[in-house]
Amino acid sequence: MRIDFITLFPEMCEAVMSESVIGRARKSGALEVVCHQLRDYAFDKHKRVDDTTYGGGMGMLMKAEPIALCFEDICRQNGSRPHFVYMSPQGKTLTQQRIKELSCLESMCILCGHYEGVDRRVLDKYVDEEISIGDYVLTGGEMPALVLADAVARLVPGVLSNNECFTEESHYNGLLEYPQYTKPIDWRGEQVPEVLYSGNHANVDKWRYEQSLITTAQKRPEMLRGYNLSELDKMILRNAGFDVE
Ligand code: SAM
Repeated sequence: MRIDFITLFPEMCEAVMSESVIGRARKSGALEVVCHQLRDYAFDKHKRVDDTTYGGGMGMLMKAEPIALCFEDICRQNGSRPHFVYMSPQGKTLTQQRIKELSCLESMCILCGHYEGVDRRVLDKYVDEEISIGDYVLTGGEMPALVLADAVARLVPGVLSNNECFTEESHYNGLLEYPQYTKPIDWRGEQVPEVLYSGNHANVDKWRYEQSLITTAQKRPEMLRGYNLSELDKMILRNAGFDVE
């Protein structure tokens, strides 16, 4: 997968996307990331990427033309038109389901807003989707874009070492993950559940599934409304002290 960032702070995106799992995936070729400096596409007399808003008001707005030129250049470089996302507090809130869908794309371009945001006309003309990372406002779109890119990239084949790394994680199948433990077995008198070092894989799987259900019921009970609970699931939850119809 190729991910392009359009940003006024490409170093910020580049730094984060060069570390750890994502950095390794780029080196191995499983993922391509290109961070574009929007200022390089400001060709008017004053090379401006922002200006005052019509109708008055505080703050500056990002101009349409540099964004259009940058996106058109990315389309040319790509040889096709990537899915174009604008990070915005007005967008649909990001979910693991949407992340799964986006991870199947061949290419995605993410526009990071700044100041008061972006001239509506370029968004209407080019952007396919506005995505928010939550109902709060940040100063710029770089951190939201990095959240989106990281979450999508880790589902791209070859980025993580094996599929289990994400298929058992919270939200992937509508439940939160089970509790996890590492060495030592006894930490300050607190024990690792015996089943986890019993060597019986079927029992480990059963315990983990039950704990996933219970953890979800404890921490995010509303998630269970969208989960198709079997009769066995309901029994597990009732035995753990939860009220289930
Ligand atoms: N004036 C805009 C509004 O009220 O909708 C907010 C602009 S915000 C200060 C500047 C930029 O940060 C936005 O253009 C967007 O790219 C990014 N941003 C801020 N909060 C965000 C959020 N919750 N999710 C995604 N992007 C966000």
